[in-house]
Amino acid sequence: MFKQLVNECIVTLHINIDGPVLVKSGLAQVSGPDMAWVRVFRNGREEVYLPGSSLKGVLRSHAERIARTLNNRSACDPFADSSCGRIFDKRKPKTSEAYRDSCLICKLFGSTGFAGRLATTDAYALGAPPEPVQRDGVGIDRFSGGAAHGAKFELEVITEGTFATTLHLRNFELWQLALLGFVLQDLSDGLIRIGMGKSRGLGQVCGEVKQVRIDFLGLKAPQVVNGQLSLRGVGSLFDDAHEYGIVSPDEVSIPYSGELRSNGVRTTAIFPGLTFPWAAIGDRWVQRAVSFTDPLAHERQGGRQ
Ligand SMILES: [Zn+2]
Repeated sequence: MFKQLVNECIVTLHINIDGPVLVKSGLAQVSGPDMAWVRVFRNGREEVYLPGSSLKGVLRSHAERIARTLNNRSACDPFADSSCGRIFDKRKPKTSEAYRDSCLICKLFGSTGFAGRLATTDAYALGAPPEPVQRDGVGIDRFSGGAAHGAKFELEVITEGTFATTLHLRNFELWQLALLGFVLQDLSDGLIRIGMGKSRGLGQVCGEVKQVRIDFLGLKAPQVVNGQLSLRGVGSLFDDAHEYGIVSPDEVSIPYSGELRSNGVRTTAIFPGLTFPWAAIGDRWVQRAVSFTDPLAHERQGGRQ
């Protein structure tokens, strides 16, 4: 996105399995169950894991739902001809233009026009990795779309375990951090399912935020005054914000009782457990979504014909 990194939020997240879950391998299986868990070779053995790309996809579709609730135009349909990515494929804009003209969800998660701000690492099991068990999946075609009617089907599920991952949000605007907060809240409330068979009761998980860390890089890092930290979005840290259509200035005062660590280049605030004050920034997202007007409205109509 930008050549320089000016701020970053790193969320340490645990994902607790809360019922049968299947995150399928994308590879064709030579033997074993028809629907096998995705595995990785790690610590000298094969174990199940949650690929970062699948997690990102799940968080993205949920963010789309949240966005459309507030303003139907604020999220494009990433699979349609009218998507930001398809339009940029034709137009080949500069990165700053692509960012400026994208829908709010592409601004956060990216499109073919540019890489997104949010990155998710692969999630590995904490402690001993759960062992998948086989379940009979007759009728699974209704959610897989791939199996023959009435065929007997084996699928692998895990029913317990905790996976640890980190989310990295780089060069964020405050509304993006706030939207991530709403997504994490819904994940904690068990409202986001992962993997296959969501409509059939599979995929129940519960997120648990273990820590939120905010880094500021460079000389515009904020200080703590009277227990308040001025949280700065990229619009208050980056000189060419207007070229990208970034909200500027972008700053909000939040309570912070911890120590600020700084080595003169990187300044870090750490919020352990659930102490990050999401409520103090929530309005940034709501206002941005409600007031969003779509710069690509005309081109999207062309794409639909
Ligand atoms: Zn879009």
